[in-house]
Order: sequence, then C-alpha cells, then structure tokens
Amino acid sequence: MSFKRRIQLFVTFLILLVSSILTVSFLYHEDKIATEKALTSSQNIKTIYDSIRKDLEDFYTHRAYANLRSYGIKEAMMARDTEKLYALTFPRYTTLREENPNLMIMQFHAPDGHSILRMHRKEVFGDDIGARRPMVHLTHDTQTVHTGFEGGIEGIAYRIIVPFVENKQYIGAVEFGVDPDFIINKLVQITKMDTLFMLHESRMAAADSQKYQAGYSGYRFAHLNPLQRPLIEAFVKDNPALNQRIIHHNGKDYDVIPIYLVGNEGKPIGLFLSFNDVTMGYQEKLQIIIQSIVVTFIIIIMLLGIIEYAFARLTKKISYQDKYISTILNSQKNIIIVIDDGEIVYVNTAFFNYLHYRTLEEFTQKHRCICELFETTDSENYLQPKMDGKTWSEYILAHKEIEHKAKITRNGKTSIFTVDVQKIEYENVFRQVVVLSDITNLNNLATVDMLTQVTNRFEFDKMLGHSISVSKRYGRTLSVLLVDIDHFKLINDNFGHLVGDEVLKSFSSLLRQQIRQSDIVARWGGEEFIILLPDTALSSAIIMAEALRQRIEVNPFEAVGNITCSIGVAEFNSVEEADDLLQRADENLYRAKHSGRNRVVA
Ligand code: GH3
Ligand code: MG
Ligand code: MG
Repeated sequence: MSFKRRIQLFVTFLILLVSSILTVSFLYHEDKIATEKALTSSQNIKTIYDSIRKDLEDFYTHRAYANLRSYGIKEAMMARDTEKLYALTFPRYTTLREENPNLMIMQFHAPDGHSILRMHRKEVFGDDIGARRPMVHLTHDTQTVHTGFEGGIEGIAYRIIVPFVENKQYIGAVEFGVDPDFIINKLVQITKMDTLFMLHESRMAAADSQKYQAGYSGYRFAHLNPLQRPLIEAFVKDNPALNQRIIHHNGKDYDVIPIYLVGNEGKPIGLFLSFNDVTMGYQEKLQIIIQSIVVTFIIIIMLLGIIEYAFARLTKKISYQDKYISTILNSQKNIIIVIDDGEIVYVNTAFFNYLHYRTLEEFTQKHRCICELFETTDSENYLQPKMDGKTWSEYILAHKEIEHKAKITRNGKTSIFTVDVQKIEYENVFRQVVVLSDITNLNNLATVDMLTQVTNRFEFDKMLGHSISVSKRYGRTLSVLLVDIDHFKLINDNFGHLVGDEVLKSFSSLLRQQIRQSDIVARWGGEEFIILLPDTALSSAIIMAEALRQRIEVNPFEAVGNITCSIGVAEFNSVEEADDLLQRADENLYRAKHSGRNRVVA
C-alpha cells in the first residue's frame, strides 16, 4: 500500500474513532441530563401532589361553609334531624357529585362524635364515628379543619373534615371524602406520568378488600393495567422498601417516584407511584447518530480530498525536483555514483558513457564495486580497492586532506580520475556520493613532454625519487641511462628547426620501442633523454645502452638520414641521493662525448 493510502486510511480511522467517541459520550451525557431532569421532577411531583391536596381542602372547606350557611342546615344539624338535613342538602350534594364523580363521601357529624347523616348512605346514621376514626375525633377536639387519607365504611378516601362554630357554640362538622382515583387523575393530567395508588394492608377496611387485592411489600393496589404490571414488578424487585429508583423495561427507562402517605401516628397509609419515562427518544438518538455519521463522512471526504490534492502537488514538485537534479547530474562530465550500504543505487549518464554500459543492472551483474576497475600496478600513487585495512571509500573519507587518484583502463585507453566521496545521512542510513573527475589530460599536461609525448623532467624526478626510496627500502638494483644526440645543432642548422623537432619525436619513439614496459623514458632537456631502468644492475644497463646506441645508429631518420647518440650509464649505489646518481651518469655522458661520441660510457 502506498504511503498516501496508508495516511488516508489512518486519518479515516482516526476521524471515525474520534467521532464515535464524541457521539457515544454525547449520547451518554444526554442520557445523564435526562436522568437528572427526571430526579428533579420527583421534587416537582411532590409539590404538585401537595397543591392538589391544598386545592381539595380549600374547595371542600368552602363548599362545607356554603352548605352550613344555607337556610335551615344549622338548625337541622343542631336538632339532629337526619331527614330534613338530607332534604335540604340533596340538591347541593347532587351538584357536588356532578362536579366531581370521585366524591364518595359527604357526612354530617354531631359534636359528640356520632354521625347525623351520610349523604352517600342515608340509611346508616347515629353510629359513633369519633370513637373509630382518629381524624373525626381530632376535629371535634380541636375544632379545626383536618384533612388526610383515612379508612371508613366506604373504605380509604381523602377526607376533608370541616368543623362549624356558631356564636361560639360548636355545632358539629361536615366531612367530604374523595376517592384516591381523583388524585391519580389529577397527577396524570398535570405530570403526564402513569401513576397508581397502593394502600397499606394495615389500613384495609372491609370496603377496601374487594378493591385492593394483590400487591407488594405490604401495599396493595386497586387495579393494574397490563402495561403497569411489568413496570411495578421491575420496581419492587430487590427493593422491599419501595424506594425511588430507575428501572429499565422494553428498552425504556422509567424513574419510579413514590409519594408515601403516613398517618398522624407515623404509620404508613399508602403510596402513589408515578412512572416517569426518562428514556431519551429513540428518534432523537437516531437523529444524533445520523447527523454524526453525515458530519463524519463530510469531514473524511474533505480530508481525503485535501490529502489527495496535497500529495498530487507534492508528487509534482518531487518529480520536478527529480528531473531538475538528474538534469544537473547528467549534464556533468564527472562520473557520479551513489552507494547505499555498499551497493550502487544511482549513477549518472557520464558513468554509462565512460564504461559503455546501458543500464546499472548490466554493470552490477559483472562488477560488485567500481573499485574492481582500479589499476593495481602503481599502488603508491593510485587508489586501491583496499587501503590500510579500509575500503577505498572509507579510506578517502578518513583522508580528506589529500587528493585521491584512480587509474582505470578501458578499451586500451588509460584514464586518471580524482576521486571524492561525500557521506550523507538520512534516518541512520548512510549513503556515499562518489565523484570521479577525469584528469587524464590535465595529468598528461603536467607529466608528459608536449613535443615528444614521453614523461617530462618534473614527473621523472618524482618517479626517480620514488624508485630510489623503493631500492633503498628493499635493496633493489636500479640504473639510469643519459642519452644525448650527437651534433644535433647541425641538424637544426642544416635542415631547420621543424625538422629538428621531427627528429626529436622519432628519436624518442625509437627509445620507447627499445625499452621494457617497466622502464621509463623521459625528456631531460633539449636533445637529451634519460631512461630509468628498475631492477637493472650496471652490466645489464650497459648491454641495454649499447643495444640502444646501435639501434639509433642504423635507423634512417626522415630528411636527415642517420644520426648517432652518446650514452652515460650509472647504477644506483644504495646509499646516494638522486642527484649523485644523475651526476655520475652526466659525467659518463661527458666522457662519451669527449672520447669521440657515438658510444656508451659506464
Ligand atoms: P654534442 O654532440 O656535443 O651534443 O653537440 P650538439 O650540437 O648536439 O650539442 P649542443 O648542446 O651544442 O646543441 C644542442 C642543440 O639542440 C642546440 C639547440 O638549438 C638544439 N635544440 C634543443 N632543444 C631543441 C628542440 O626542442 N628542437 C630543436 N629543433 N632543436 C633543439
Ligand atoms: Mg646536449
Ligand atoms: Mg647533443
């Protein structure tokens, strides 16, 4: 996979990861907020419950006073005239029932605790209620309004008992009783929460046992719809104290809020349970997820596009740079080679032009290293594949202060190069850039005599010095021949200078033909030449000098015919310096001239 694809994949993965983390945490956060909202609504529901109770109390207290103040009611109460009281109250009771079908009780109490009249059950009266029902008893005792849930003949009801005092005389009380369903309906209407009422077993009157049958933890409910049953079962599970909790059912979360009803004596009466649906809507969640997917994909597509564009720009720029650099490298006359970990990875056109290979592979199939082409004959002056235990390139890097030269022969032509190595590092990988500059011509200019193309005097001095140090170190023999053309001045005089030059050229070429590969001919000056004979003792040197002399003597030179030369020979004596050796050769040459020319003197 390309670098670009890898980056695109990584970016996609990263955005997906970040986006899913954000979405999940957002959903979780929203869920938490919903739950917190639900918890605060548990406070609200209690306040609502209290206000319903307060409304009931206010409403029926007013109704009670209105009734008691109506014509004949007080009198009928004081007279305990049940029939009359019923007849007077009936129209008002009918209206009250129409107003609130959950009104199940309206009763007149005498100050002694006995019942005067039950509007809802006219036939039962005169019984002592105050003895049975603490709220009634308390109202008579304190002559103040009392409200709350209490049981009775009709069963559990929310009761409002209103005492009536006329001219400082307590004449009794009027009681209203409302079915718990009224409060349930009000709660459902205001809070929109499913709500049910449960009655504590200890408060069950005969009338209740029909209605409140099954239940949990000592509480019983009147009726339960099929939807409420699994909810309440989930609520009571492992929750015997019936504390507020959040339950999960059918993929929904409900905060179940209980309102405990406790009697004056502190004992439980019953409780309201409200089921507050706190589930974050599936649709809402789906919407958030879809939005996040859409946004994520837009971001991914945008970023992938940006990466695509940036890479295209970069690739264009890099390919331009590549072209730019390779144009520069290929326009160079110098051979440039890049080596990576010992392996050639790049070469320029000059490399192919010089070595006559078409591709790098073609070259590397035959050679592992450019150093295989280095000539090893003159190890003193030229670079070798191994130097001082180092590879040639390491050796160059270690000896930057000197100029390194390599000699390479291709197709019979010897070239001399200066070799430079630069090291570049990239992420701990070292590369070597090798530059070979062809200095063959420069080298020749400096070392070869222009006219005769043999070694010049300057170069010869260096070679002689080197040969003498080798001879001294290894005890090797070494001889020199100093050759001077006889009466050369006459040639110039008779044939002209140009002919003289031609004679010098032919003469030196004859000398070269006459000597061995390891011998060196140099122009000493004018018409004088010197020949260096390594590993040659005096006797052999004399023989060679004589052969040379004879060869010249018989050779016809163009335009001038035959010429002769005189030769002075000297052998290195192993302790002297170059000048001493040359001096002795020169003395011998002088003797050759003065003893008649065309001879060898040693
Ligand atoms: P001898 O036998 O004593 O050596 O006599 P010679 O005439 O050869 O010696 P001499 O030293 O008197 O003269 C050498 C001449 O060589 C003088 C000079 O003009 C000539 N000569 C030196 N260099 C060149 C050259 O490059 N070209 C030509 N044409 N002549 C040269
Ligand atoms: Mg001379
Ligand atoms: Mg001469």
